[in-house]
Amino acid sequence: MQAPDISRAQSAELFEKAKQYFPGGVNSPVRAFKSVYGTPLFIERGDKAHLWDADGNEFIDFCCSWGPLILGHNNEQVREAVAAQLGKGLSFGAPTALENQLAELIIENNRFIEKIRFVSSGTEAVMSAIRLARGYTKRDKIIKFDGCYHGHSDSLLVKAGSGLVTFGETSSAGVPKAFADETIVIELSDKQALETAFAEFKDQIAAVIIEGIPANNGLLLQSKEYIHFLRDITKENGTLLIMDEVITGFRIGFEGASAYYDIQPDIITYGKIIGGGMPVGAYGASKELMACISPDGAVYQAGTLSGNPVAMAAGIAALGILAQKDFYTNLNAKTEAFVNDMRAYIAEKGYKVQLFHVASIFWFAFTEQQEIQKASEIDPKSMESYKVMHRELLNRGVYFGPSGYEVGFVSDAHTKADLDQAKQHIFDALDIVF
Ligand code: PLP
Repeated sequence: MQAPDISRAQSAELFEKAKQYFPGGVNSPVRAFKSVYGTPLFIERGDKAHLWDADGNEFIDFCCSWGPLILGHNNEQVREAVAAQLGKGLSFGAPTALENQLAELIIENNRFIEKIRFVSSGTEAVMSAIRLARGYTKRDKIIKFDGCYHGHSDSLLVKAGSGLVTFGETSSAGVPKAFADETIVIELSDKQALETAFAEFKDQIAAVIIEGIPANNGLLLQSKEYIHFLRDITKENGTLLIMDEVITGFRIGFEGASAYYDIQPDIITYGKIIGGGMPVGAYGASKELMACISPDGAVYQAGTLSGNPVAMAAGIAALGILAQKDFYTNLNAKTEAFVNDMRAYIAEKGYKVQLFHVASIFWFAFTEQQEIQKASEIDPKSMESYKVMHRELLNRGVYFGPSGYEVGFVSDAHTKADLDQAKQHIFDALDIVF
């Protein structure tokens, strides 16, 4: 039976007010709940795997702030590290030992980068990585993949995944044609398309950028063989490979998708988890490449709040936990059991829905296709089923991202009881969808 709608009176009132101040009432588009039922929920607080909204509704959270909260909400060690720093000052615009500590923690535990630069968001990290690639190769063009999202800088907002496709567009207005012309967009998992692009734009391609594991337009799992092909063809053409690990970095494992595929990218970008819930991004590469960055090199990049001490303190506390032995083994095993139970239920009922999964990321695709590796393979009509599921889940106390193109995340804070409870609600929601 359909669950009764939760009260959204307070959230609805807050949303009306927000619409007076912000375009669409929000500060990031998908938050507006445009492609799912009802008004957005205004969140008051989070603790462990749980969220509470302004109407007092409680949810088991699988959005996890879109990925950063791998330790769940209000983690005690992160909170205490932040509180300790708060008493010392919020920002100095000068180097601090905390930046060294976070960099050391990352570089000592990551074989893929030798130097790093901290920025304040994933967008900034990727934008800077692209500039570095262009500055180093002295070439202008980049290749990106249809459906991969790399933040909202101009040359990357072309066929860029969930945030755009949720609203029926694939590229942003306001990006000059001259910029978009430097971005070649091809389909994922298509070797021929890569070969053609390299043949057509010989010696012009500075970089190919790919999400570690594409997770912004559904979860588009790529074969290891394809990623190695991508590595080889970029190398042969003097083109840099940028692995955008803003989602996958510290999520798939401490060394992210680079270790998962066992390849050495030229530049890696980070965001989300790296700041423990605070605004931090980063890009890293070899010493040789990073020497091109200012003040020693000619590629300029800067930031008033880069390496912010409060954000660094949160990152150090969070990554310190993630670097502990067995952290990922436990989290990934817990997620796998959760996913397998749901798959068994779906198989038993014969429902036409797939559950794609890697590490602690999962995605429901309302289709019979057993494999989806390209954005073009997703039927937009299938989002209607997600909409029904999303409404049912919220009404039953389970918070999923407000778009069927978004993936779900399991955190260390999800207990067995949380997952068992969520599972039951998901089964009931699927029974309503079908
Ligand atoms: N790259 C990827 C793979 C992302 O998923 C995102 C954000 O979702 C970004 C870059 C941009 O990061 P931010 O939202 O922190 O600017």
